[in-house]
Amino acid sequence: MAFEQLLSGKLLREFETISAMVKIYCKAHHKDASAHPCVECDDFIEYAHTRLDRCPYGQEKPTCNKCPVHCYKPHMKAKAREIMIFAGPRMLLPHPIMAIRHLMSERKPAQGKPPKAHSNRHQRISISNQD
Ligand SMILES: [Zn+2]
Repeated sequence: MAFEQLLSGKLLREFETISAMVKIYCKAHHKDASAHPCVECDDFIEYAHTRLDRCPYGQEKPTCNKCPVHCYKPHMKAKAREIMIFAGPRMLLPHPIMAIRHLMSERKPAQGKPPKAHSNRHQRISISNQD
């Protein structure tokens, strides 16, 4: 997926983690799909990618369930929760490092308000405007 290249560092790791979780979820729930992730789950991955790119905390992003900003649409948030609950405990065997990193970052306390102009997207745009 080419759009992965837009993210780096912590945001990219988080994107890889959510993508892996969606695949685990999709294989178990959408068995009849011709590919995993299926079209519906792929849409969700793309949505999650956009949210990460626009997260106002940028690289200082807290984990989503501790975040004071509610950036997901309600039905996407419900799907995210369903995916996490299902795939979270199933991540340890196929992706132990991702799973442990995720658990550790869940323990960090929530932050205050996001700093201004801090999102990955904002920084990307301000860099490209300098040329
Ligand atoms: Zn699916």
